[in-house]
Amino acid sequence: MKNFQLVKASTRESAIATIAKDETATFIAGGTNLIDLMKKRVTEPDRLIDINGLEFGKIIDADGKIRIGALAKNSEVAQEKIICKKQPLLSMALDAGASQQIRNMATVGGNMMQRTRCPYFYNPDMPCNKREPKSGCGAKEGFNRMHAIFGASDSCIAVHPSDMCIALAALDAIVLVDGPKGERRIPFTEFHRLPGELPEKDNTLERTELITAIEIPDNNYEKNVHYLKIRDRTSYAFALVSVAVALDIDKGNIREARLALGGVAHKPWRLFEVENYLKGKPATENTFREAARMSVQGAKGFGGNDFKIKLTPNAVSEALAIAASK
Ligand code: SF4
Repeated sequence: MKNFQLVKASTRESAIATIAKDETATFIAGGTNLIDLMKKRVTEPDRLIDINGLEFGKIIDADGKIRIGALAKNSEVAQEKIICKKQPLLSMALDAGASQQIRNMATVGGNMMQRTRCPYFYNPDMPCNKREPKSGCGAKEGFNRMHAIFGASDSCIAVHPSDMCIALAALDAIVLVDGPKGERRIPFTEFHRLPGELPEKDNTLERTELITAIEIPDNNYEKNVHYLKIRDRTSYAFALVSVAVALDIDKGNIREARLALGGVAHKPWRLFEVENYLKGKPATENTFREAARMSVQGAKGFGGNDFKIKLTPNAVSEALAIAASK
């Protein structure tokens, strides 16, 4: 690993000012992905700005809206009473991610910033447009079992690795950020991006901006929710396909539905058309079967991951049925 300087930020202003004047600097909180990237020389910052001393760790219920500080640990959020009661989908998704030890270290903001686990990205001897622009994509013609079936480009077919983010996309969360130009709010579904011609860019955050919190709007998703994660091992493995489902059911009919997929795209993949289809329909097996069929419209495999096009609808119908049965 390359030598680096560690600077502790004491205020958000000093953290932003430090990163703004040093192009080689990056923020560090839990470091559960960043340190791996540094050890493998995928990323080599000269300076790390430690933001663990900042005031962004609280979880607050403000008039129905839940605000989660960016430095709240994944395990704390998953176990927090108000999250378990009002946003159980988020709790389930967090518990499905990584291992207990990693969840104890990883922060909400860091979870959002974690990078793809495409094996070519982590191997500097292999071509990878995300690590080294214009070097090629080893996965397209290579080992691509874990890769995208939606929204891929000629440049990159990688997937976003987080579970937490799939639930937050389904729940219409908002990302609160601060930077040299001031604060702004980014809808969660617009925070991560598709690879296009710039696969090196995972999200719409500016390099000098700092995530301060996540806000989840008030909703009726306290009961009929489920996070289904299909993976090679039952723990400490990334999703082949995951489904976040939130249903608002009244007398057997679906008033509102939220559905997002993980493990299938470069960003959490929200199924807006399927949600519109579900709205007003009876919560029955027939409805869920049609929703499942719709869920893979436009999907495209790359050989090793073709199985996801069959696996996804099965996962969607199962997740919907489990959520509706609660
Ligand atoms: Fe790199 Fe993306 Fe291709 Fe993986 S899929 S090798 S991350 S360019």
